[in-house]
Amino acid sequence: MGRITLDKVTKSFGEVQVIPPLDLTIDDGEFVVFVGPSGCGKSTLLRLIAGLEDITSGQIRIDREDATHVPPAKRGLAMVFQSYALYPHMSVRKNIAFPLKMAKMDAAERDKRVDYAASVLNLTDYLDRRPGQLSGGQRQRVAIGRAIVREPAAFLFDEPLSNLDAALRVNMRLEISELHNTLKTTMVYVTHDQVEAMTMADKIVVLHAGRIEQVGSPLELYHTPRNTFVAGFIGSPK
Ligand code: ADP
Ligand code: MG
Repeated sequence: MGRITLDKVTKSFGEVQVIPPLDLTIDDGEFVVFVGPSGCGKSTLLRLIAGLEDITSGQIRIDREDATHVPPAKRGLAMVFQSYALYPHMSVRKNIAFPLKMAKMDAAERDKRVDYAASVLNLTDYLDRRPGQLSGGQRQRVAIGRAIVREPAAFLFDEPLSNLDAALRVNMRLEISELHNTLKTTMVYVTHDQVEAMTMADKIVVLHAGRIEQVGSPLELYHTPRNTFVAGFIGSPK
């Protein structure tokens, strides 16, 4: 299950509060996109959910459990890093299996999970290659594979496509949406790209200076933006 609840969550760096009290519920199986201009707090919010940063006050729940003080590795969430986080000297299979090896999972179960992830991601024929022998899109899929094998309650993506060229971005966008249809696992996806938000999201969270300006489906935001910031950002005519 992958229901994530943020209850009056705040985050300050020193004296500066970058996230004022914020409430948000992400439902199990939802594809939620955090969108907003650079510096608005998208990455910080994702890192708070992942546990990579501590919240300053408030509570984070994953399903019904208080996860506020649970370390990142025990939250059951998988952060997908950009493809350059792969190990260049390891095969694709070893790269994907790496988190399972760290968790000391036995080899048979590890292979089963890697084979499943590879089949979902069309990487079956590339398992013996090294990352340097793959295209940018394939490398990004390996990074996603490394998350899939952990069978997380939710996937967390921080601008995973920002270092890919335009054509590849469109492809990967479709592939990630397809992956969501296949796995039906909660996905939280950060981007500053309105097109990604509008085409991928079940629910969009528009952020501005750490505050939620509006939450809604792409159509709701397009047709009934709450204010000129949302309208301007989403590109609708208000
Ligand atoms: P986004 O991902 O939307 O571009 P960030 O979450 O990275 O925005 O940053 C939000 C705000 O928090 C920015 O003003 C940024 O400078 C500040 N910030 C982020 N991380 C830190 C940090 N480790 N220390 C101090 N300030 C930070
Ligand atoms: Mg960011």
